[in-house]
Amino acid sequence: MANLEDLYREIILDHYRSPRNRGELASPPAHRVEGFNPLCGDEVVEYLDVRDGVLVDIKLTGHGCSISQSSSSLMSGAVKGKPLDEVNEVIDSFKKLMTVHESALAKDEDHDDEVDLRRLGELAALQGVVKFPVRIKCATLAWNTLRQGLEELA
Ligand code: ZN
Repeated sequence: MANLEDLYREIILDHYRSPRNRGELASPPAHRVEGFNPLCGDEVVEYLDVRDGVLVDIKLTGHGCSISQSSSSLMSGAVKGKPLDEVNEVIDSFKKLMTVHESALAKDEDHDDEVDLRRLGELAALQGVVKFPVRIKCATLAWNTLRQGLEELA
């Protein structure tokens, strides 16, 4: 499985070095939401353009560790242009990957039925993070911030 871990590492580094959807949107009309992870000093600022129940556009700025920044980049690609119900499904799937996986590892059980990794695509690259509990907050920061922003818009 070392090759898969190498691939995952490459994906994370690629998104860290070349973050997708980087920048700002005028707010308003876009909704601006900020997230901060004090454990690591990670920051994300997200600009959400939601129209007619669709996340038409998303831009991000921020700084922090490679996990927090690559996770926000991967997230933006996974949710941009999607209807909000699909966006929420992706958020739920990712958060599940970060929690179920961890508890399953602790119990040393097979857990591959819990999260459909193929559906997560490149996001699966972040699954290795669960081995390092202190980094889970880095990986979920952008996702929790997105959810907060969507709730503020609801
Ligand atoms: Zn971090």
